[in-house]
Amino acid sequence: MHELSIAMSIIEIAEENAKNANTSVISEIELEIGTQAGVVMDALTFAIEAAKKGTMLEGAKWVINEVPAIARCADCKHEFPTPDLFSPCPKCGNPFSDVFQGRELRVKSLKAE
Ligand SMILES: [Zn+2]
Repeated sequence: MHELSIAMSIIEIAEENAKNANTSVISEIELEIGTQAGVVMDALTFAIEAAKKGTMLEGAKWVINEVPAIARCADCKHEFPTPDLFSPCPKCGNPFSDVFQGRELRVKSLKAE
C-alpha cells in the first residue's frame, strides 16, 4: 500500500528530527498534503493509525492540512484552482498549465513535550 509507506517515512522523518532535538516524545505533528500529491486522504489516515504504534508519534496529535491545487497557465500566466492536472486555463483556454501548488507532501511542524 502506497499510503502506508508514506506514513512510515513521515514517522521516520519526525523521529529523526526529535532525536536531533534530544526529545523522545512528540506531542503534535502537522502535515501539509496537496490535493494533487497522489495520496488518498482516508487511506493515509488509516495507514498513520497503523504505522504510529510503538513510535514517538503514537500519542501525538496529527494535524493534516490539505493544500488545494493551483495551476499557472503556461501562456497567459493566469493562476487558477484546478481539480486535476488537465484543466485548461479558464481565461484563455490554453490546455498547458503548471501545477505549482498542491503537490506538497511534507511535515510542516513538530511539537515536542
Ligand atoms: Zn491562460
